[in-house]
Amino acid sequence: MSDSSQTHSIHLDTPVQYLKGIGPKRAEALEKAGIRSAEDLLTHFPRRYLDRRTVTRIRDVRVNTSVTVVGQILAVDVIRGRRQRLVVLTGDGSGMMECVWFQGIAYVSKNFHTGETVAFSGKVTVFHGPQLVHPEYDKLSDADETNPMHTGGIIPLYPSTDALTRQGFDSRGFRRVLRPLVDGLARIPETLPDSVLGRQILMGRREAVENIHFPGRWKDLESARLRFKFEELFYLQLFLMLQREARHAGEKGIGFIRVGDQVRGLIERLPFELTGAQKRVLREIREDMRRPTAMNRLVQGDVGAGKTVVALLAMLIAVENGYQACLMAPTEILAEQHFLNIRRMLEEMDVPTALLRGGQKSRERQAILSGLADGSIPLVVGTHALVQEGVAFRNLGFVVIDEQHRFGVMQRATLLQKGVTPDVLIMTATPIPRTLALTVYGDLDVSVLDELPPGRQPVRTVWRKENVRDKVYDFIRDEIRSGRQAYIVYPLVEESEKLDLKAATEGFETLSRTVFPDVSVALLHGRMKSDEKEVIMRRFKSGEIRILVSTTVIEVGVDVPNATVMLVEHAERFGLPQLHQLRGRVGRGEAKSTCILLSSYAVSEDARRRLETMEATTDGFRIAEADLEIRGPGELFGTRQHGMLNMKIASLVTDGPVLEKARGEAVSIVESDPKLEDEGHSLLRENLKRQYRENFGLIRVG
Ligand code: ADP
Ligand code: MG
Repeated sequence: MSDSSQTHSIHLDTPVQYLKGIGPKRAEALEKAGIRSAEDLLTHFPRRYLDRRTVTRIRDVRVNTSVTVVGQILAVDVIRGRRQRLVVLTGDGSGMMECVWFQGIAYVSKNFHTGETVAFSGKVTVFHGPQLVHPEYDKLSDADETNPMHTGGIIPLYPSTDALTRQGFDSRGFRRVLRPLVDGLARIPETLPDSVLGRQILMGRREAVENIHFPGRWKDLESARLRFKFEELFYLQLFLMLQREARHAGEKGIGFIRVGDQVRGLIERLPFELTGAQKRVLREIREDMRRPTAMNRLVQGDVGAGKTVVALLAMLIAVENGYQACLMAPTEILAEQHFLNIRRMLEEMDVPTALLRGGQKSRERQAILSGLADGSIPLVVGTHALVQEGVAFRNLGFVVIDEQHRFGVMQRATLLQKGVTPDVLIMTATPIPRTLALTVYGDLDVSVLDELPPGRQPVRTVWRKENVRDKVYDFIRDEIRSGRQAYIVYPLVEESEKLDLKAATEGFETLSRTVFPDVSVALLHGRMKSDEKEVIMRRFKSGEIRILVSTTVIEVGVDVPNATVMLVEHAERFGLPQLHQLRGRVGRGEAKSTCILLSSYAVSEDARRRLETMEATTDGFRIAEADLEIRGPGELFGTRQHGMLNMKIASLVTDGPVLEKARGEAVSIVESDPKLEDEGHSLLRENLKRQYRENFGLIRVG
């Protein structure tokens, strides 16, 4: 009796402990896994599905392929010997095969009982016969009738944890609590507006819940998944757009009114005309700066697209309005290169510019710090430490973050905490795939420098192995003879600068003594003093040095149009963004350039994909997308914890088109109702609150 009264009163917010089939212990395990309410359970989506299409008959299993087989447990044996192992024999009517465990034997063996039906997934190896070692497994049902090979049904498999499995929450366990839950919920309210559902032709929520957990036909399952992906992306975009609106409206920023002689003078004195894209992006920045609200703009531009000039012009606008500007780079080396570039561009102008870095003489550092504090130094370049160490400015008004695909989020937060809201411009050198830009940077305004300065030629890229090293050297010798110059770069060795240096130093010795004894070869590395580096760069630029051997120091910022060869040693050790940056050092002049990626014979699968991508394209956006596919969004940003990337069902790799549509809907809603105050939008307000409980304070709605 109490059972049925409960069933009638459950709703989406009901805590899991009150749900049918869930006692206190099971509730605790669910809560630990973040599943607290009926709603959380409903949105605990299957990770994949089994049916005839996805299950292989044991008879058809091939070595070295990944398969899922569904069979009955025929025997469970722990075999003792030199290497103790657990062998589970399974059969599906077409044949039998062994699943083997060498670890966790005591725990795993208790899980299997003869007669049970289990799905095993893994890569097929051979020992006596085909076998799966440490496969993933899901118990289906005691009876054979759920075997999708027999029934033709689709069986969902759920993500689980050890703790959950111990409480019976394997896939079967989840299905057993979900069935009465779905049946018992009197209402599963729609969360998307009718207009959106209609325009996007999406399945209603109740129907989608039924189909995602208890699918009948693939077609309906696909529609259900699409609907939930859309919902997830839509609310995320809505949240981000509202956050941006709130910032535009709420933060007091600086209105930079003047565009003075210095900015105009610099533009006139540049040895080139700005590209159309540079002019457009500069205008976009200019518009933001003029408004008395805080700018947060991301400039994406491929290597060599000319971001530095744009950033410098924007900083000059701030300076001419009486404010200070700073540029922050992720490393000291990059900071230094920006500093040298800026100083060169500002050569004939009266704009005191400083470089703040570690290891500076205390007197020098003090002079800079006091210049920043009293405002006599309007322009400063440094690393992110500039802000973190609490350097005091008289009136910092403009910040450029050159972040090499790191987050600007943390820095922005630090800036705001200090009670100042300068305009912030973030530059990223390797384009970010659009799906990520819209998510991670979804609350920013984005400008794209999508045009290279004229006369640039695509760089020919070849991947070669050790066996043709001599031919590679011959090629470089020919280029040098015809008046060109070359870079030879050595990789990071396990992130250690010391070992790094060793590889480059040894390479330099061999190259200068044995391979190119008659050519002027020089070595450049991060441990050198800044003036030493400057001397070498100047001699390379003037053409006196023909071959520059280097660690990844030259990754960014170096500009020598006469250099036409980039040879990357151990190219298999570099990531795609780094390779792309390195390649960007050549192809800057009129002559045809070549990038040679030299690797050892055996490279990993991922390395092969990276090197082939480099050969196939010079388009930074395509490279960024390949990088996303190979590494996944978490790795790409060096953090798996980033909340925006923790999605329940949507994928930033494959769901780009859904994201675009979801964003489109979110944009038009926020444009018509920036604070989400309309009566008709109460549904959206409520759902945003549910989904972004913790972050809700960041936006102002209703
Ligand atoms: P990025 O930082 O985007 O990689 P840079 O700002 O370093 O690119 O510019 C690359 C090179 O192109 C520099 O030598 C710069 O002086 C030059 N450059 C920038 N804009 C133009 C332009 N509009 N026309 C010709 N050369 C340009
Ligand atoms: Mg640059």
